[in-house]
Amino acid sequence: MSSSLERLIAQVRGTVITEGDDGYEEARRVYNGMIDKRPGAIIRPADRDDVSAVVRFAGETGTDLSIRGGSHSVPGFGTNDGGVVLDLSSMRGVRVDPENRTARAEGGCTWGELDDATHEFGLATVGGVVSTTGIAGLTLGGGIGYLTRSRGLTVDNLVSAEVVTASGELVRASEDEHPDLFWALRGGGGNFGVVVEFEYRLHPVDTIYGGPLFFEGAEARDVLEAFTSYMAGDAPRQLGGFFTWQLGPAAPFIPEDRHGEPMCGIVACWSGPPEEGETAFEPVLAMGSVVGHALGPMPYPALNSAFDLPHGLRHYWKANFVADVTDDLLDAHRANGPNAPTLESAMHLHAMTGAVHDARAHSTAFGNRDASFATVIAGIWTDADDDEANIQWVRDYYAATSPFSRAGGYINFQSEEEGDHAEQNYGPTYARLAEIKRTYDPDNVFRVNQNIPPAG
Ligand SMILES: Cc1cc2nc3c(=O)[nH]c(=O)nc-3n(C[C@H](O)[C@H](O)[C@H](O)COP(=O)(O)OP(=O)(O)OC[C@H]3O[C@@H](n4cnc5c(N)ncnc54)[C@H](O)[C@@H]3O)c2cc1C
Repeated sequence: MSSSLERLIAQVRGTVITEGDDGYEEARRVYNGMIDKRPGAIIRPADRDDVSAVVRFAGETGTDLSIRGGSHSVPGFGTNDGGVVLDLSSMRGVRVDPENRTARAEGGCTWGELDDATHEFGLATVGGVVSTTGIAGLTLGGGIGYLTRSRGLTVDNLVSAEVVTASGELVRASEDEHPDLFWALRGGGGNFGVVVEFEYRLHPVDTIYGGPLFFEGAEARDVLEAFTSYMAGDAPRQLGGFFTWQLGPAAPFIPEDRHGEPMCGIVACWSGPPEEGETAFEPVLAMGSVVGHALGPMPYPALNSAFDLPHGLRHYWKANFVADVTDDLLDAHRANGPNAPTLESAMHLHAMTGAVHDARAHSTAFGNRDASFATVIAGIWTDADDDEANIQWVRDYYAATSPFSRAGGYINFQSEEEGDHAEQNYGPTYARLAEIKRTYDPDNVFRVNQNIPPAG
């Protein structure tokens, strides 16, 4: 261990775990079981001063620094080999202000923790579709979820952020304070600093009506066409969710002899008055022959945690944005969707129409705001023996659909390989992001991410 790392360890008040310590093997792991890296130290800060000390250390020594929120990054940006991990799981406080309809949540919170806290007051903000994902990585990349069509991206609901920048300084970013930094944080990923606290706008969302519904696999192309044209067209904004092309899950609402058969599904949420939910789902149920569904009223956090998977499964994902769903694209899905090698693997196509398109095109750093859908081809499996089959399925599927999609994808749904599409991923906001990076992180201290190198 270097003497500078020893000095850092002596300085921080939080927990430090290094190779050989009890708990190191568990602490070095991230959500994706494919990632097998061995950082030099994992530091769980006690407070913001600890965060500043770690960032200063990384800047002064050139050590790789991973910022870990919920650890869900599929490329495994929450860890590294030989560097330092700043693991914010030690900072997970949430404070809800029901009168002003805002919540402040520390950088290590998961969506489950934030949803549960706001649900106490019948309120919610736009999160993702599972509860174990970190609020930090999801928010900083943009944030797409069940409430997106009615309330926009997660970043559209961000009021302010407390950030430790590359110099170790703590600043508040909002529309009025460091507005350029605030703009960059809303889609530019973990490139600009460590966010120790997020402040979100909340909405009255309490009991929702929704859940999964599955259709005959033979009709999947037609269902996808119906879903995309409805979500890009007449669907009420309170209806949000995603299409899934996958094998029939081993769920109680799917006949047992049909588990593992190629099927397609829609997982959706009606966040309008719950008593209108059944009617709202009529056009969705009419999109094809339904094999089974589990639709009904439920608390919003229940839907957001209904599909949580255990940590440690193996993941390999690729992603594109889609503006127009063409016949060629639908054919490419039909050729690849049914071939998912395992029950957990799936192609998800998330609707990002409605409120997402209300904001000005470049009002935040999320550059592909004018796309209608975010596609993720998610290989997910248990056994290392299935690595090749799953990775190949994702690569083939991506190769077939990407000619009919945008060149860029949602940074939060991508593998590391798509990092070299950075300009397309961030879209027309890329040049300004690189300028702001030069101002706030000229030495690229925050580089273990979908990186934006400083301009010049
Ligand atoms: C099962 C699953 C479901 C998902 N569902 C959705 C979904 O519905 N909608 C959606 O939009 N995305 C979804 N995602 C993608 C998710 O948004 C990204 O994986 C995101 O990066 C996860 O954030 P995290 O904090 O858990 O990850 P981490 O691995 O901890 O961090 C991810 C990135 O964020 C940076 N980062 C983390 N914390 C901070 C911080 N406090 N300050 C600055 N930078 C930080 C890291 O440097 C890293 O680059 C899902 C991912 C998984 C695995």
